[in-house]
Amino acid sequence: MQGSKPGSDRTETHAELATLRTHPDWVKTRAREIDLCDELSLAETMDRIFQSFKRSHPFVGASSNNIYWNLTRTPIRVMVIPRTAGTYITVINPKITRRSGTAYQNIEACGSIPGKYYAVLRQPHVAISGYTLEKQYLELSFGSEDYSPGDRPVLAAYHRHEWIVQHEMDHLDGITIKDKGTPFDLQHLMP
Ligand SMILES: [Zn+2]
Repeated sequence: MQGSKPGSDRTETHAELATLRTHPDWVKTRAREIDLCDELSLAETMDRIFQSFKRSHPFVGASSNNIYWNLTRTPIRVMVIPRTAGTYITVINPKITRRSGTAYQNIEACGSIPGKYYAVLRQPHVAISGYTLEKQYLELSFGSEDYSPGDRPVLAAYHRHEWIVQHEMDHLDGITIKDKGTPFDLQHLMP
């Protein structure tokens, strides 16, 4: 925990959940990179807001496009993703360095599109690079290119982190599951 008062950043920056209905332009804007020397405090503030939101909006990953605030005119390239079971890492200026394996249809939900599900093509392995809040360069790899669930859409599993990373990377490009997926009725999964 940081030394600040819980929720204070969230109040001072007017941070709120950005949905396609409430903040369509924010959600659809490509996030901009931040300068690690001059703008690190933006990432630190966003990280504290992520922690604050996590208490009220359980999420498995989040990007700056999911949270509207008044500190910048556009979202910044910062996302929080799972690192190992139960732990999270905030990544600054992330880039996808590799995607591999046979794509499959993953059924996903999104905090910015409440109540809807979409089947989205994802690859079973993704690698990214980026920077930590300590300005350390990092490379992370998620999933396995051998994973192949077949032709039927599979319900997104929270222990599979590779789709979460791809979902959040899409957000930073202003792309949602509504843009690249197809609406999916969960009743189709019933036997
Ligand atoms: Zn989302």
